[in-house]
Amino acid sequence: MRKMYQELGISDAVIDFGQNVEKELKERFEALDEVAEYNQMKVIAAMQKHRVSAECFQATTGYGYNDLGRDTLEEVYATCFHGEAALVRPQITCGTHALALALMSNVRPGDEILSPVGKPYDTLEEVIGIRPSKGSLAEYGVTYAQVDLSEDGSFDFDGIRNAINERTKLVTIQRSKGYASRPTLSIARIEELIAFIKGIKPDVICMVDNCYGEFVEKREPLEVGADMMVGSLIKNLGGGLAPIGGYIVGTKECVENAAYRLTSPGLGKEVGASLGVISSFYQGLFMAPTVVNSALKTAIFAANIYERLGFCVVPNGTESRHDIIQAITFGTPEGLIAFCEGIQAAAPVDSYVTPEPWDMPGYDSKVIMAAGAFVQGSSIELSADGPLREPYTAFFQGGLTWYHGKLGILKSLQKLCDRNLVNTI
Ligand SMILES: *Cc1c(COP(=O)(O)O)cnc(C)c1O
Repeated sequence: MRKMYQELGISDAVIDFGQNVEKELKERFEALDEVAEYNQMKVIAAMQKHRVSAECFQATTGYGYNDLGRDTLEEVYATCFHGEAALVRPQITCGTHALALALMSNVRPGDEILSPVGKPYDTLEEVIGIRPSKGSLAEYGVTYAQVDLSEDGSFDFDGIRNAINERTKLVTIQRSKGYASRPTLSIARIEELIAFIKGIKPDVICMVDNCYGEFVEKREPLEVGADMMVGSLIKNLGGGLAPIGGYIVGTKECVENAAYRLTSPGLGKEVGASLGVISSFYQGLFMAPTVVNSALKTAIFAANIYERLGFCVVPNGTESRHDIIQAITFGTPEGLIAFCEGIQAAAPVDSYVTPEPWDMPGYDSKVIMAAGAFVQGSSIELSADGPLREPYTAFFQGGLTWYHGKLGILKSLQKLCDRNLVNTI
């Protein structure tokens, strides 16, 4: 084993350091395994209930009428996540598209959307019209209200009560902190928040942006009162195998609205050929519980490695996890760059390229990104990025297998060691 790691450029000192950290995570990892096992059973039970068969994997073309694979998969999703219906489609191009679809199809001019958990994910600002954009909800006369979390991360219940009015139609709750500094919401906290909101206005639609949160816990948002949960298939639920896609699971009414918007009024879910990708959607969902487990182990391993070396890590080495994102603050551009180079160098794809900081649209500083992925932009695969500005924080996520994730973190540490960017390990 040592020889294999040495062949991949990991020194004895780094191997030993990693081994010592990993030893202490045994109980933590066992708890993660238990969640993965539970979720794996959930997926298998749903697939069995809906009699998934080889016929489901056939590609359809054209209109895609009577697409057995597509329709059965949507039933599997609905059962697995406790919804009445689901929309799981390659025609949904990404997470932002899925969220835009869910929002735009379930509000009408004059309605108001409320975010009770602060600013939503960057790309949603243009969907809602917080930042002006062509075709935003603001252009259609849908207004937006926001209540920030309190300084300590708790819900501002008074603020939320005051913000809910007769026009409030939909409440959007982002589960993962994404790249913001607030804490990620546990399912228990989402449950508390939804109960409070429905107590004030029972018929308001509660939508959860579920990106990066799927299968991290045993329960999902629809089990705690949400009307819709929405996400991307090149994150957790695609299991690294789906090459494209997004999903919406929820009440029949909400999903039907989304289907009429995705295709056309009158057509809804009846059209939309699955082409050749549907078997990867099934297989990806099947793999997703263990893939998420690997990503979580990688994140926790990294947190403990870098915390021990004196870097600030969020979440820290011991706190409970509610999404797969890990932030590590290096304090210097050299540290951030070395980390990303290490992640890249450990990849199965494009390991020989060196990531360079570059100017990205929408950012006021250069950004460095590491991704050696089978699916372009897939962030369930081990990937990292960070803006080249104070405090030089790397955000990373993913890892299709724990062993690859572990190599990525060891390789990043090796790069930092080689450049004397860490105290002796
Ligand atoms: C990734 C993400 C999105 C957007 O998904 P894309 O596939 O990148 O468009 C939205 N919300 C959250 C919390 C995310 O993590």
